[in-house]
Amino acid sequence: MVAKVIDGKALAKKVRQECSVRVNELAAGGVRPGLAVILVGEDAASKVYVNNKIKACIEVGLHSEVYRFPGDASEAAVIAEIERLNADDTIHGILVQLPLPPQFALRKVLETISRDKDVDGFHLYNVGSLVVGDTVFPPCTPFGVQRILESENISVQGQNVVVVGASNIVGKPMALMLMQKEATVAICHAKTRDLAQFTILADILVVAAGKPNLITAPMVKTGAVVIDVGINRLADGSLVGDVDFHGVKEKASYITSVPGGVGPMTVTMLMWNTVQSAERFLAARPGAALEYAA
Ligand code: NAD
Repeated sequence: MVAKVIDGKALAKKVRQECSVRVNELAAGGVRPGLAVILVGEDAASKVYVNNKIKACIEVGLHSEVYRFPGDASEAAVIAEIERLNADDTIHGILVQLPLPPQFALRKVLETISRDKDVDGFHLYNVGSLVVGDTVFPPCTPFGVQRILESENISVQGQNVVVVGASNIVGKPMALMLMQKEATVAICHAKTRDLAQFTILADILVVAAGKPNLITAPMVKTGAVVIDVGINRLADGSLVGDVDFHGVKEKASYITSVPGGVGPMTVTMLMWNTVQSAERFLAARPGAALEYAA
């Protein structure tokens, strides 16, 4: 069996076009979705991610603002900026690019973001909403994976899903979202004994560990759907995922590549969540329904 390689770039383009249509509809109601990004420090990867987000905003028609703080900025200064943005009606999404420098109390910063503008979905209110299955802002990377599966009509209901990686931003929310769709989910992590005994059972395998070549063909069930979230830069400068793409491709039914798989969808779902937030803002405005319909 040779897997179909899912084209994350093409899907991202399609979803961004859907977002643009909604942006045009919002314009009729006098609202332009706005995203504010806070970047603290000089982390090179973070700068690239922020640039990609701003480019996507331009492509989709969103207003965007970037607030750059030096690495030795105080937590109070960043929190004051977030509070100002919370009260700014032209901004519908606020995100703090992670990681933050060590002097920052991460949860305190994330909890300052208005839960109605928390387009990354990291505020505890939205984390809790995800647990009970009705969040407005699903975290963008697992949201992108979900959209990839839907785009290929891959039903997760009743399937054995194994998520490798248990971080708060990818693995855990991914597992919750798939469980919500009635998959049978196992989560593996760095302390899992004999990873292969779990992965071999997976009808759908989602890998987000940040370890090149962690998943090889003998660890994968024939016909499995393999979604590689990992992004690793090798010594030669190339980007690879966590899955031995060439080996596993011969055995899986579907596979995503790195780059060109989940990555473009992550940024795209951030656009989706920001548009969604602007729609909620418009709907909540007094007299909105009449104005919007006009
Ligand atoms: P993280 O370091 O916060 O978490 C990694 C998780 O993987 C942990 O739960 C850890 O226990 C587990 N893990 C590590 N080594 C393992 C091993 N040998 N076996 C099993 N589990 C192992 O990382 P993260 O933020 O969740 O990101 C994971 C990967 O996904 C990274 O490569 C990151 O760059 C990538 N990522 C990609 C996107 C995207 O848009 N494609 C978005 C976010 C993260």
